Amino acid sequence: MAKLKIYLADLVHNYLGGGSYMFPLNVGFVASYAKKIFGNDVAIEVIKYPDHLINKIKESPPDLLGLSNYSWNAHLNNKVAQFTKSFSPKTFIVLGGPNINQSEDGFKAFFKENQAVDFYVINEGELGFANLLRRYFDKNAQIGKIKESFVEGCIFINEEQIIAGEKAERINNLNIIPSPYLSGILDQFFEYDLIPIIETNRGCPFSCTYCAQGFVSQHKVKLFDIERVQEELDYITFHVTKTNLLCFADANFGIVPRDIKIAKKIKSLQMWKGYPRRCIINWVKTRQSITLSEIIGEAAYLVSSLQSVDPDVLRNIKRNNIDYNHFKEIIAHVNKAGGVSGTEIILALPGETKESHLASLRKLFDWNVSYIICYNCLLINGSELTLPEQRLKYDLKTKFRLIDSSFGQYGDFFSFESEEGVRSSSTMSEEEILFFRPVHWLIQFLWNYRCYFPLLKYLHIQGLNPVDFIVSVIENAAKAEASVKTIFQDFKEESINEWFTTAENLRDYYEKPDNFEFIRRGGLGKMNGKYTWRVILECKENFDKYIGNLAKDMLPGHDIILDNLVRFSMNALPDLSGKIDFKGIKLVDFQYDVPGWQTGKFIVPLMKRDVSYLFYFTDEKKDALNTLINQYKHANRNVTMRKMTEHMRITDLYYDMEEAKDKPVKGVK
Ligand code: SF4
Repeated sequence: MAKLKIYLADLVHNYLGGGSYMFPLNVGFVASYAKKIFGNDVAIEVIKYPDHLINKIKESPPDLLGLSNYSWNAHLNNKVAQFTKSFSPKTFIVLGGPNINQSEDGFKAFFKENQAVDFYVINEGELGFANLLRRYFDKNAQIGKIKESFVEGCIFINEEQIIAGEKAERINNLNIIPSPYLSGILDQFFEYDLIPIIETNRGCPFSCTYCAQGFVSQHKVKLFDIERVQEELDYITFHVTKTNLLCFADANFGIVPRDIKIAKKIKSLQMWKGYPRRCIINWVKTRQSITLSEIIGEAAYLVSSLQSVDPDVLRNIKRNNIDYNHFKEIIAHVNKAGGVSGTEIILALPGETKESHLASLRKLFDWNVSYIICYNCLLINGSELTLPEQRLKYDLKTKFRLIDSSFGQYGDFFSFESEEGVRSSSTMSEEEILFFRPVHWLIQFLWNYRCYFPLLKYLHIQGLNPVDFIVSVIENAAKAEASVKTIFQDFKEESINEWFTTAENLRDYYEKPDNFEFIRRGGLGKMNGKYTWRVILECKENFDKYIGNLAKDMLPGHDIILDNLVRFSMNALPDLSGKIDFKGIKLVDFQYDVPGWQTGKFIVPLMKRDVSYLFYFTDEKKDALNTLINQYKHANRNVTMRKMTEHMRITDLYYDMEEAKDKPVKGVK
């Protein structure tokens, strides 16, 4: 019997180039398990990029095409499924993944929208997909017979009825799935600029209503064997060449004590091979995260997510936050060690008001959180918040916007992914939500990205909360030089115009040739990153002047210190607007020792003394930066920089500093 030919793809829109995409670990798991069960009866290829898949289908269509389904590739999957069915009507098309509302209405809506899709595997994919293959073989590939009765873990339509059957049980022992790394299934992807992703545990014990994780995992956490995880880390480290990043897929890394061993393994690999230089981790919300982040060190930001600190909001979204005393303890500990202490916060959750969100932001600054990631509330398929009763209860009005870089033209079709965001609720108007758009941008730019961190720290110590300074920066933008003023005006217009009433309206708009050309050139992207880099690449000097003058107006009598703090920000970054070269060295004079204050983690006093510092890059940093510049290269420098700074160790972007003592220094400009 000929082998069953299967293509399994975890597609991403790489139309604007690569950079921030992960290895297709998800379909790698499904492929590994299917190979284990069906051996030589199946021939499976794992694919990541849409053009590769389309070419393969044209050359040799598969018997079965499986696609992982997320918000960032759902429209692309639909288009690829339509193309496949028109080109090869006999190919079975199976989707799987969290991007579906698990109700009769949700299933119906999915199959109405995705008419080329034959089956959907829900929750964990390995068992449901294997059940489907078993049925396929049993019924000799006859679709009518396959659909005669339910398949555990799958849904489909038969004679206009949804056949949902039983949910497949959670996999008790994850180690029944062979490792896609160790089996070599993923080897080909080390040739691309993809970020390796590893899963050490699966599932989440919590039930936040805006998230699908807890729901689909039935609140159970299962573990992969520690030895296997350690071997996978070795394997990745020895094969990776195109990136210095590593991502953890776990919803709560650190949830079990054994994760200390994993952290130690990462540290030993860093020391030995210099990889991973930065880990992207969703941390457990307990004190264990302190121990783990201490072990991993600078390579991981300790982000302890809160999402809101308002008790009513937390009740509405069914979320239990970490005890705030523990949270503050974690933050203090990380700050003292010189690490990055982060949290996430979501705007416009049910019950949130303008005042409560402002109060939350002020509180986070007062607690000295050094990295505050702000999101707009999105309605994600598969989460409780998308259900009609929740929308009604909180009067959630939504609109749609293009997902950053998630579009493209592939062969004969265009595809655009959209996300549904809350634009007003029973407690927040659209105008109030828009008020926070530039506030969140400037928190990322001035604070998280460290562009004016010492200045904001100083203002805070003098009694001015950084949020209140940021609101003034926005309100006084008309006083800035024209180049800066224009950027604020553009930001305001884009924050309104990025939203569309429906996903169809959005697609119609971006498909028009002029609009498509604009986004093709990188004109649209996550606004916080795009506008941060517009300022840095287009008018940093004028922005420095504006920020400095405003700070002096708001804090009279501190002019010299404020001049020194702004001078530090002016010089701390290299010039990234022209030819990029990390070889330069420069000498900067201060009357207040701002670099020393930063090196002392802002715990030491800001000393008044005449001092000169050399600003330069170490060889290690030069290597790390050059790797990333290559990984994220794009004709539009703004795209390169905004994508690169999303995941990198942000301090790598800044010069190292060393006090220059008396003697002339070779190479100084
Ligand atoms: S938001 Fe985090 S903690 Fe809450 S359900 Fe999702 S993964 Fe779990």
